[in-house]
Amino acid sequence: MTYIHDTIVKLQKTSPAQAEFYQAVEEVLDSLQPILETNEKYKHHAIIERMVEPERQIMFRVPWVDDQGKVQVNKGYRIEFNSALGPYKGGLRFHPSVNAGIIKFLGFEQIFKNALTGLPIGGGKGGANFDPKGKSDGEIMRFCQSFINELYRHIGPTTDVPAGDIGVGAREIGYMFGQYKRLTGNYDGVFTGKSLLWGGSLVRKEATGYGCVYFAQYMLADKGDSLAGKQCLVSGAGNVAIYTIEKLYELGARPVTCSDSSGTLYHEAGIDLATLKELKEVRKARLSEYLVAHPDARFIPVTDYPADGHAVWRIPAQLAFPCATQNELTEADARALVANGVIAVSEGANMPSTQEAVEVFLDARICYGPGKAANAGGVATSQLEMAQNASMQRWSFEEVDEKLKVIMKNIYLSASTTAAEFGEPHNLVLGANIAGFRKVADAMIEQGVV
Ligand code: NDP
Repeated sequence: MTYIHDTIVKLQKTSPAQAEFYQAVEEVLDSLQPILETNEKYKHHAIIERMVEPERQIMFRVPWVDDQGKVQVNKGYRIEFNSALGPYKGGLRFHPSVNAGIIKFLGFEQIFKNALTGLPIGGGKGGANFDPKGKSDGEIMRFCQSFINELYRHIGPTTDVPAGDIGVGAREIGYMFGQYKRLTGNYDGVFTGKSLLWGGSLVRKEATGYGCVYFAQYMLADKGDSLAGKQCLVSGAGNVAIYTIEKLYELGARPVTCSDSSGTLYHEAGIDLATLKELKEVRKARLSEYLVAHPDARFIPVTDYPADGHAVWRIPAQLAFPCATQNELTEADARALVANGVIAVSEGANMPSTQEAVEVFLDARICYGPGKAANAGGVATSQLEMAQNASMQRWSFEEVDEKLKVIMKNIYLSASTTAAEFGEPHNLVLGANIAGFRKVADAMIEQGVV
């Protein structure tokens, strides 16, 4: 235990005010204890000390001109965390809450997630504290171009391959790729999540949500259960939430909620996916507008949330899919879910459950799929996009979806067999962390002190 404490204290000194990053490191180190205690080699090669320090951190100014002609300035980041297994791979997040600590927590998680996919990709993450909400198309384009005016020199198809995340979808990827192409003259697979018109892969848009549902399916199948007929809670109303809802319906479940930063929508009859897509993908409207088409649904504004958590997790259901953002599910939320009979939680978002909430799930022995395993379908399909770009091929929807299913199954098996190997078969946090860690750590040792 002392090395966890010592590592966190050291990080607090050398990288101050990065609470989410310490949280992610602590969670990983906590579950690595059994393997660190029995393997001197990791200590000998200072693997933990090296892993918690990014290989490279790029921070830059992003100046741009808004529609009123006023100059705006944002902070841009790309954290190239670990390249032991392949080129840095991970999304870009545009959200006002972005800071170095948020990007570092996401980049750190990405190392283990990418290792778990079994694909040759290292871990990285980036973004900016830019708020795309309410911005015109022209403003978004000028911001993306300015962002790339600096980032282009650090990325490339064999060095660092960014993708989308919160606030970054196909439109933003398009503007960033366009500027990269203009600056470098290269038409290559430097981004994933591209439009299907020019190099994108089928299923990439759906992959994180679909994968998160497949992961739940595999967890339940191990208990002789299935998704069919189950009432489900989903949070978020963006890319991951929408395609989680879509796949839940396809597999016979009934998603009854979704949420955004303004509140939670509860529709007992089941969320109407067509209305949700129209609101969020086409009109980019607030969730409360759903009630215009469906007056029988209920909208709970954030001002009415319980003081110790979120309304979405207080609704009785059997399955829960947190798909919005980090720390959106508190200890009190977790207790409410368990008390209401939840049997499985599969995380589409990154680190959506607080550490205390995770403890509640593990203690209750419910099926719990941590984000770095359950949402790895997104990055895995990004790698399939890279493979198609590199080989100048285009695979069908069914082909990519089939590969995604196999990858999710392998991730589940890797996490669950590793958990069993260490005597805690129900603990997929431990299983996922150790399985991912071993691959990265052993590769680092073989590559020497770099
Ligand atoms: P989107 O931007 O498409 O959607 C994010 C959704 O979450 C929106 O509904 C947004 O509401 C809500 N949200 C974001 N921040 C907050 C907040 N602070 N409080 C309440 N609601 C919030 O992002 P994605 O769907 O792509 O990403 C969702 C999660 O999934 C993130 O944790 C991301 O890191 C993770 N993820 C995404 C992958 C991908 O392929 N896209 C891959 C793996 C993980 P509003 O619009 O009101 O802000």
